[in-house]
Amino acid sequence: MENNSVWDVVVIGAGPGGYAAAFRASDLGNKVLLIDRDEKLGGVCLNRGCIPSKALLHIVKIVNETQHLSKAGVTFGEPEFDIAKIREHKNKIISQLNGGISQLAKARNVKVVCGKASFITNTEILIETNEKKEQVKFKNCIIASGSRSTLLPNLPEGHPSLLTSKTALNLDSIPNSLLIIGGGIIGLELGQVYSTLGSDVSVVEYMDSLVPGADDDIKKPLIRKLKKHFKSIMLSSKVTLVDLDVDEGVKVSIEKNGATTEGVYEKVLVAVGRKPNTDLLDLGKTDVKIDDKGFILIDEYQKTSVEGIYAIGDIAGNPMLAHKATHEGKVAAEVCSGLPAAMDSKAIPSVVYTDPEVAWVGLTEKEAKEKGILYELGDFPWSASGKAMILNAVQGKTKVLFDPNTKRVLGGAVVGSSAGDLISEICLALEMGSDVEDIALTVHPHPTLGETVGAAAEVLEGTMTDLFIPSKRK
Ligand code: NAD
Repeated sequence: MENNSVWDVVVIGAGPGGYAAAFRASDLGNKVLLIDRDEKLGGVCLNRGCIPSKALLHIVKIVNETQHLSKAGVTFGEPEFDIAKIREHKNKIISQLNGGISQLAKARNVKVVCGKASFITNTEILIETNEKKEQVKFKNCIIASGSRSTLLPNLPEGHPSLLTSKTALNLDSIPNSLLIIGGGIIGLELGQVYSTLGSDVSVVEYMDSLVPGADDDIKKPLIRKLKKHFKSIMLSSKVTLVDLDVDEGVKVSIEKNGATTEGVYEKVLVAVGRKPNTDLLDLGKTDVKIDDKGFILIDEYQKTSVEGIYAIGDIAGNPMLAHKATHEGKVAAEVCSGLPAAMDSKAIPSVVYTDPEVAWVGLTEKEAKEKGILYELGDFPWSASGKAMILNAVQGKTKVLFDPNTKRVLGGAVVGSSAGDLISEICLALEMGSDVEDIALTVHPHPTLGETVGAAAEVLEGTMTDLFIPSKRK
């Protein structure tokens, strides 16, 4: 590395937020250094999160679809899983994408260093690699060093019977029985993967419902399916003891309404949330302020309490989502290059990539009711969609919430096949300030699931002809 040089922009962390920030900063003419502990670029999302889990969930979806096809006269027989090949397939996708990011860095002349970065002062960083320690100076630093899985207190890290999302995605073995602690997004996505691959999956969740962010009607088709996939779903239940010294596996005590039950599972996956990696940066040597949960405090320009230091992605607060990190990364790169950017997106979509997928953005009905926000609803059941019928997805639903006065979109949600793709139209409508007529009068191709967004708006407009709703006829 160039000695004693001052980098225009140093980015710590090469996940979807960090590499986007580095590349955007480089495109804007900065001399950029990108540092990651991992040789493989792409962060948790690419190496141990979104991409591998979605590669495996694609298999879940296809297996489910082939089972449905038997009703359409096509039979494949019982699926057989070659776990080594599945692992290889998933790893190949990851390494292709790893290679792509490295090539993009090279093409942009972004200097990439594999090492551990920590702060020395408000303008200097220490990089520790296997061979040496090196100090670098920066004009701007973008912290994008993400988060890691939270473990339950008193549980050892790295025990072979205890999985985290990272180790579960390695698919080292498929246990006969798997208890998942935490019925959040990671728990449900990985639960469906393991149950499809042959594990008896049980889920224990502290709260009284799964996927707390989504509306009940939107979660319903997913929960119906999960009840078929999983051996048991224990809600309002607390894990009180995990005994790792049992021959058959792990003995777990679970308490519900004061009564305790015990179960023995071959493996236990802990998916109780993630915590920011703030403690690994020696931030005490700077004036960067963090909150009581360890998130770095930022403003809408991604600026921390120190001029020239920015933070983006998981380390800068919830929601911990790759697409939020990427967007924030670009904002930080533009702000530190003097452009008038800010993180002013109206909403960030959430997607659970299970089968069926669940997606929502902006205002939910639940939130509207809790906060007393008035709204009008356009919703369309997929039982009236030809495409949904073809795809065996008639349990799905699309709904859009509108402001009763302006008729502008406030939010929306979709459950069903490709919900994560379909929500994009509602995101765009929300961002553009579209109203119900804009959506209803947009010609959607037929037959598609995309039509259901237009149909939801038509239901509210009273122009829907694929359903008979006497009260809505205008
Ligand atoms: P989460 O916060 O979404 O869910 C954790 C769940 O565990 C919660 O429902 C919580 O009530 C429960 N829980 C906590 N302690 C418990 C205990 N002792 N016993 C039983 N239940 C307990 O966390 P996650 O699923 O680990 O995901 C972490 C982050 O990663 C989230 O921010 C999530 O949005 C993100 N993520 C997103 C995606 C996606 O976008 N599809 C996929 C994976 C992860």
